[in-house]
Amino acid sequence: MWDFSTDPEFQAQLDWMDGFVRDRIEPLDALFGGLTYHSVDEPLRTMIAGLKAEVRERGLWACHLGPELGGQGFGQLKLALMNEILGRSSWAPIVFGCAAPDTGNAEIIAHYGTPEQKERWLTPLLEGEAFSCYSMTEPQGGADPTMIRTRAVRDGDEWVITGEKFFSSNLRTSSFIIVMAVTDPDVSPYRGMSMFLVPSDAPGIEVLANIGLGHEPWGEGMHAHVRYDGVRVPAENLLGGEGQAFVVAQTRLGGGRIHHAMRAVAMARRQLDAMCERALSRQTKGEALAEKQLVQDAVADSWIQLQAFRLMVLHTAWLIDQSSTAEARRQIAACKVLAAEVLSDIARRAQHLHGALGVSNLMRFPTDVGTMMGIMDGPTEVHKVSVARSVLKDHRPSDDAWPTEFGPKRVVRARRRFDELVDELAPTDEQRAGFDRLVQSSAAADVTVAQMQAYLDATAGNL
Ligand SMILES: Cc1cc2nc3c(=O)[nH]c(=O)nc-3n(C[C@H](O)[C@H](O)[C@H](O)COP(=O)(O)OP(=O)(O)OC[C@H]3O[C@@H](n4cnc5c(N)ncnc54)[C@H](O)[C@@H]3O)c2cc1C
Repeated sequence: MWDFSTDPEFQAQLDWMDGFVRDRIEPLDALFGGLTYHSVDEPLRTMIAGLKAEVRERGLWACHLGPELGGQGFGQLKLALMNEILGRSSWAPIVFGCAAPDTGNAEIIAHYGTPEQKERWLTPLLEGEAFSCYSMTEPQGGADPTMIRTRAVRDGDEWVITGEKFFSSNLRTSSFIIVMAVTDPDVSPYRGMSMFLVPSDAPGIEVLANIGLGHEPWGEGMHAHVRYDGVRVPAENLLGGEGQAFVVAQTRLGGGRIHHAMRAVAMARRQLDAMCERALSRQTKGEALAEKQLVQDAVADSWIQLQAFRLMVLHTAWLIDQSSTAEARRQIAACKVLAAEVLSDIARRAQHLHGALGVSNLMRFPTDVGTMMGIMDGPTEVHKVSVARSVLKDHRPSDDAWPTEFGPKRVVRARRRFDELVDELAPTDEQRAGFDRLVQSSAAADVTVAQMQAYLDATAGNL
């Protein structure tokens, strides 16, 4: 059954969320947008806690996780519909307990953590009392995790971690870090790396720089270049089995990528809204910009891209609910590619339509966010390769040198099949004669088919 509707009870929740995000949370973005992921002072802390309490009361807190973990277990499709609203705002995902990178980190602790690990690391994360950090990328190579050099060496009841990581988001405000390190350099990196839970204040952790994005001032960014200099953690801080880091990372990144794509739908829609408002409001040469066909072209392209992207995200979310992030890997990679492209395209068109105002510091268009989406959690090229490989697995090479769609081959095959059908359907000579007249007047008459077959015989094996 195909059904694109939302059940009325959940739609009522979405409607409540829409009003709540616009009226109560978006003002925080305008005033304190730079403070997300910071441990904020009173009274802002009290205000955020109050908003979180309202979300809990509505049964909408941490919806990405199952009830046994304190979430609602709505599944990815409902989460996608929620993120279409939450993604408009930088504070909203935090207020609803489903912000990156904490969602992905929570998911892998939930999946692979021991009961003790869940108690110590996951519970405070779900309560919204702690932030977490994921430390995988290294300065010498991010897109290729087989380049990871950070080592963890077993020493009695402890692991000792040594290495350098780049772009470890939110480390400066996190309580703990999930670090990926090589534990066995003698086997393939796919089996020789492990994940560790590391308190952010462990001795030996040195932040070399907190790197910012775009025009953020030096030192005020959220993405740490961090050195682990003999950082010791107890053996029980290994997350998942030894050598399992790749499997854990795939679980984390699969979920994280589709959540980014869901939020990108919201961001792109906000840009489309801004574009349409501007087109209808701004007059030029005696009419609104919206009357100009080239402007209509930009609006139409944006809506079409957004609609296609949104449906792909929703379908992928549905697919994950039916199977798993691993099963939906191709679709997730495709959504990740589209997220970057669609957001970049629509934000750029919206900015362009605002003229000088659009490039001024009076407005903000997230063209850079689109660019970033094409890099973080793996660059677009890598995801395209993954999509292409997966698509190609569903196909086979042609059985000879000519393509299956090659005209003479299609006609000859169709004629053979037609003859078989005639044998089945036309037992009498009279009926066969009727079919024969029909086929002789078609593109597959005897003489043509004979010539084509001769051509195929003479060439197909020799190309
Ligand atoms: C905002 C943001 C937040 C991030 N947060 C985190 C975090 O919390 N934790 C963490 O561990 N990492 C984080 N990262 C790092 C991110 O995952 C890496 O930036 C990403 O994997 C790409 O690695 P790189 O930057 O080293 O680029 P590189 O690997 O150097 O790639 C650079 C470019 O080379 C090209 N390229 C690379 N590989 C291929 C290929 N196979 N085929 C064709 N072209 C290729 C692409 O154009 C690519 O953009 C974050 C990044 C950003 C931008």
